[in-house]
Parts: sequence; structure tokens; C-alpha cells
Amino acid sequence: MDTQRRYPQVCSCEFFPPHSEDGLQKLLVTSAELDALRPAFRSVTYGAGGSTRERTFVTVTALGGLGIDAAPHLTCVGSTRAGIAEILEEYRVQGVRRIVALRGDVPSGMRDIGDFRYANELIEFIRASTGEHFHLEIAAYPEYHPQSSRPERDLDNFARKVQAGANSAITQYFYNADAYFHFIDEIEARGVDIPVVPGIMPITNFTQLARFSDACGTEIPRWMRRQLEAYGEDRDAIRAFGLDVVTALCERLLAAGAPGLHFYTMNQSGPTLEIASRLGLLQA
Ligand code: FAD
Repeated sequence: MDTQRRYPQVCSCEFFPPHSEDGLQKLLVTSAELDALRPAFRSVTYGAGGSTRERTFVTVTALGGLGIDAAPHLTCVGSTRAGIAEILEEYRVQGVRRIVALRGDVPSGMRDIGDFRYANELIEFIRASTGEHFHLEIAAYPEYHPQSSRPERDLDNFARKVQAGANSAITQYFYNADAYFHFIDEIEARGVDIPVVPGIMPITNFTQLARFSDACGTEIPRWMRRQLEAYGEDRDAIRAFGLDVVTALCERLLAAGAPGLHFYTMNQSGPTLEIASRLGLLQA
């Protein structure tokens, strides 16, 4: 964890792009509520294969219009170089300076994966075509990417993205702090020293969390799963337990020198603000 202590601790928030104008207005209210956290940036996800291209752009533009450092996610799977170049130019013209650069998952039924196989190729392309204009965030997987054949390969592939020009990383969410500490030790051993900010998923709905976690390879520790299962439909109990557990996780990460927290807000301010308040991170 030594290299990570070098970086200031900052918070950031993630949103998904709403489907409607009404949804966008609600998101802007949520975003304003999160001002109390003083997020360094707010990122907006991108549907695999470009399915939310327009909505991500509109959301980033709306946030940017409010003076917010808004960072679009951009996935490359199923894309051509020309298509990615066009999107980069649109964002450059809008004044965007930060991108979360990802491979994405191949949507079922997609036959042509396009010009990019992995995120490191996207990062190389962005650096070759736009120089240092964009700050590039990448994805990190303390519990390893679900498709990785071996842990060492996943770590080497992470290092490859950094060598390609990534500036910092955000992790997949996790509930086991030791997985994060181990990941940092492993990348430090490979000479990687960019900030790797833990992704934090507040717990509000166990069924949804279990589904997400199965899909993305996050382990819900047995003691947590058993307790959450025992609460059944008692949403208040799940929420209270989730706040305690996630706050304790964040405390441990920050105390150990993690360079901040990236909140997966699910477009809700409440759980993120409650955790941040308990951590003493909110502006007075
Ligand atoms: P990569 O870094 O390319 O890795 C994918 C897999 O390929 C890994 O198993 C890796 O070990 C392997 N690999 C990498 N490079 C090589 C190589 N050169 N040779 C051989 N194997 C290699 N998905 C979305 O669709 N939209 C989003 O907005 C989105 N946002 C995300 C934000 C964060 C912070 C995180 C953690 C994930 C996000 N995802 C998103 C999910 C992500 O797209 C998937 O996890 C995807 O499967 C991998 O993307 P990646 O950029 O990590 O891929």
C-alpha cells in the first residue's frame, strides 16, 4: 500500500445515464445533493456496444454545463477506430478532460467485436489520437476480472493499461478490504504506482446486489450474505446493516492510505451521503 499513501484522498461519484428528460432533471438534483461530498469528478456509465452513447453524452453535457468535472465512461468493444475518434472529438469540443476507458462486455448476439480487443488498445488509441488531453481512468479488479484465466495474467493486463497511458484507476466494488490491499501490493511489485481508488457500492437491496455481484465477480462474504438473507424483505434492516458494514469498510480503506473513494451511487444520494457523513467527509 506504500505508493497509494502518496496521493491525496478524494471522493468521486458514478451515475448511469437516465432514459428521459424527467430522469435527467432528477439526476441533476441528486448530483446537487452530492455537492456536500465535494466530488473531484462525477462519472457517467456507457452501455455496452454504445447503447447509451447519446444519453451518456447528454448527461455529461448537462453536468458539464453546471461547471462539474463530468467524466464519461467509454467502452470500445464492438467499436471502430473511426467511431471512437468521433466520440472523443465530441467530448473534446464539450470541454471534457477525463474519460473512464473500458473494454466493456460483448453484448450477446454481437458477432463483430470491432477494432479493439482489450482496454489497453483503447488507451493506446486515445493517447495516440488526443495526446494528453484526457485524464484516463481505468478499471481495476481486486477480486480479479471474472474472465481472467489466472490472477497473475489479470495483474499483468492491468499493468499493460497503465503502460499504455492510464492516469488512475477505479476498482470494481468489493466488501473484502484485504483483496484491495493484496491487489495494491501486487501492482506495486510490478512497478505500477498510479492511484487506485476503491469503488464503493452502498447496500440497499440484497436481491439486486446478489445479482450484480454474481455477474461482476464480487464476493459477498458469507457472514454478510447470511445476515442479509436473514433480513428477508426487511429493507430498513438491510439498509442499516449495509450502512454499518460499508462505513466500516471505507474507514479501514482510508486509514490504510487508499487514495479516496468512488461511490457507485445508483443515481441516489441518500446512502452515499449517509456513509460520507459517518466518515466525516461532508462539507460543514
Ligand atoms: P480489460 O482491461 O480489457 O480486461 C478484460 C479482460 O481481458 C480481463 O480478464 C483481462 O485480464 C483480460 N485482458 C486485458 N488485456 C488483455 C490482453 N492484452 N491480452 C489478453 N487478455 C487481456 N461496463 C460497461 O459496459 N459500461 C460502463 O460504463 C462500465 N463502467 C465500469 C466502471 C468501472 C470502475 C469498472 C470496474 C467496470 C465498469 N464496467 C463497465 C465493466 C467493464 O466494462 C467489464 O468488467 C469488462 O468486462 C472489462 O472491461 P475492462 O476495461 O476492465 O477490460
